[in-house]
Amino acid sequence: MSLLDDVRETMRRDQVFDFVSEQRYPFQGRRPVRPEEVDISHGPILYLENISVSFDGFKALNDLTLYINSGELRCIIGPNGAGKTTMMDVITGKTRPDEGTAYFGQTMDLTRMTEYEIATAGIGRKFQKPTIFPQHTVFQNLELAMRTDKNVWPSLFATLTCEQETRIEEVQNIIGLSDHTHVEAESLSHGQKQWLEIGMLLMQDPLLLLVDEPVAGMTHQEMDKTAELLNRLAGKHSVVVVEHDMDFVRSIANTVTVLHEGHVLAEGDMDEMQSHPRVREVYLGE
Ligand code: ADP
Ligand code: MG
Repeated sequence: MSLLDDVRETMRRDQVFDFVSEQRYPFQGRRPVRPEEVDISHGPILYLENISVSFDGFKALNDLTLYINSGELRCIIGPNGAGKTTMMDVITGKTRPDEGTAYFGQTMDLTRMTEYEIATAGIGRKFQKPTIFPQHTVFQNLELAMRTDKNVWPSLFATLTCEQETRIEEVQNIIGLSDHTHVEAESLSHGQKQWLEIGMLLMQDPLLLLVDEPVAGMTHQEMDKTAELLNRLAGKHSVVVVEHDMDFVRSIANTVTVLHEGHVLAEGDMDEMQSHPRVREVYLGE
């Protein structure tokens, strides 16, 4: 596969990387918001208040209120159908709430922004399905994902600046793939592919990272490394992780939010959640 094919593929993959398909989301005269403009001076980076989303009368989210602090690593757990994915869809602009407000920092109304604008403003989402370019190396994958001012073209056809190269090396280091720079993505282990994908999101310098079930299918060793990685990202980034694996959640989370029937059932540390009668009832099946 040539680099040009990859560019075409990148341009097609607007479902995943919305920021590459500016054309599909005309600005209507609006200037894209940059991450440095997000106002986190009050602490929280994300405000979801009284959000409801209905599908044919069924409330997937029902009066959901949730705040994420800047730099926080938060785990969201809850049984299947609790509304976890729908919540992420609301945050990323894929689904519009019927009621409620969603703010990124103090001033950005997510319900009035396009998916592209939200991604550009600094919200990155990792899906479960792999979105890496298998026949390209770790380095090239990170290069393809690099944030550019206007669109994806300049970064592919211009030579990398020193600063850009340093950034790629930095991210390789963060995701633990420095020794795999020239390895084709398809030869990476399942866990390494997931880390590469997180690295590709990091190339966009997101303020808030949304990660859906990152350790599904991973070995224990890979899970430990993923926990380390996500903990390392917290602080510089805010991270929201949706995950089922309880041991994993215990190993990374300070605060856990339990969703049930589209609503926050309980919030606290893992010990509090595991001894919470209602949580045990609906989630742990007691
Ligand atoms: P979770 O990710 O916690 O498993 P989801 O957010 O995927 O839950 O789904 C919440 C509920 O909303 C489920 O009952 C699901 O069937 C329903 N739902 C989600 N998306 C749609 C949709 N596009 N159309 C109809 N129902 C949906
Ligand atoms: Mg889901």
